[in-house]
Amino acid sequence: MSAQKNKPVYVTQPLLPPLEDFLPYLETIWNNKILTNGGPFHQQLEQALCDYLGVKHICLFANGTLALMTALQALRINGEVITTPYSFVATAHSLLWNNIKPVFADIEPHSLNLDPSKIEAAITPQTTAIMPVHCYGRPCDIEAIEKIADNYNLKVIYDAAHAFGVRHRGGSVLNHGDLSVISFHATKIFNTFEGGAIVCPDAKTKQRIDHLKNFGFVDEVTVVAAGINGKMSEINAAFGLLQLKGIDGARQKRKAIDAHYRQQLAGIDGITCVQQGDAEAANNAYFPILVGPDYPLSRDALFQRLRDQEIYARRYFYPLISDFPMYRGMPSAAHANLPVARLASSQVICLPIYPDLEMATVDAIIAMIAAPALQQEVIRNIA
Ligand SMILES: *Cc1c(COP(=O)(O)O)cnc(C)c1O
Repeated sequence: MSAQKNKPVYVTQPLLPPLEDFLPYLETIWNNKILTNGGPFHQQLEQALCDYLGVKHICLFANGTLALMTALQALRINGEVITTPYSFVATAHSLLWNNIKPVFADIEPHSLNLDPSKIEAAITPQTTAIMPVHCYGRPCDIEAIEKIADNYNLKVIYDAAHAFGVRHRGGSVLNHGDLSVISFHATKIFNTFEGGAIVCPDAKTKQRIDHLKNFGFVDEVTVVAAGINGKMSEINAAFGLLQLKGIDGARQKRKAIDAHYRQQLAGIDGITCVQQGDAEAANNAYFPILVGPDYPLSRDALFQRLRDQEIYARRYFYPLISDFPMYRGMPSAAHANLPVARLASSQVICLPIYPDLEMATVDAIIAMIAAPALQQEVIRNIA
């Protein structure tokens, strides 16, 4: 089809600056021969991200999953942690890798984030922490979660992998909870090819995390913990510094695409655009829609129809994490425990959204979604 120039359209396309802009950074690395171990670009990117995001301390990692695993180690979490089944599988995997039992609680139908009342109901004497996800970048019910954590003396580690740049009540959403973890994977709105970070509120915690991500080394001869190698390399950190220059422009383009989808899809029976909360504060990382029973096609039939036109939308998050084999047998993974997550998982499609997605392609996608509903309308009118 002409609108997309016969090229397949994926759910996202990585933000990449012009190649020549990266060459001076590489020259610096080739000259100073510092490739990793908290070198100058690593330090500069930590500072630049603190400034851009409006947070106090950041610890860079090689990826978001290692950051999640290390965040749990940093706070010495054990026992049971309450989390959401409606997320990318790394959320719960980080718990299993630490020998922690994930306890799944259901989500809210409007935000698709953990439901605070369900968190409270899942607390046992073994519970030590809550790991919520700001799903699609929409902030959780932070105030309610904080209250529960205070009442039951639980830690809160936010999987904020989707929430780069999101604001909450005038500040960064990453300033809430005990720690927040972000991802800079190629598919995220801000990427360093691979990368991630822990946002933490105080220098002491940052120091512990910095030790943990470097084998537990404090100095040449002192190892204080069974740490891991989680460090971000200089090449990734340098790339992050360059990426920051383009991030605001990229986010503006996302915002325009989000607004266009939202306006054009609003009238289609059976299609619901997932609310984004405070639109000004959002980062438009994803564009999820729910395909309800009033739509003439099933979710999977629409998904297939888009694929047939080489529109590779994604069913984030299907299947639920709790349906994967290593979680399935857990009592909290039972279908009856998670009806809202189950329904969302059966209805969701994330439509393509990325800065260089052309509006003509967005219009073509909207037309593909509208067509079955329009046909239905015609049939109804004739009958
Ligand atoms: C991307 C993602 C992660 C993992 O981040 P990586 O950088 O890919 O390791 C974790 N949680 C969620 C919710 C994610 O979307």
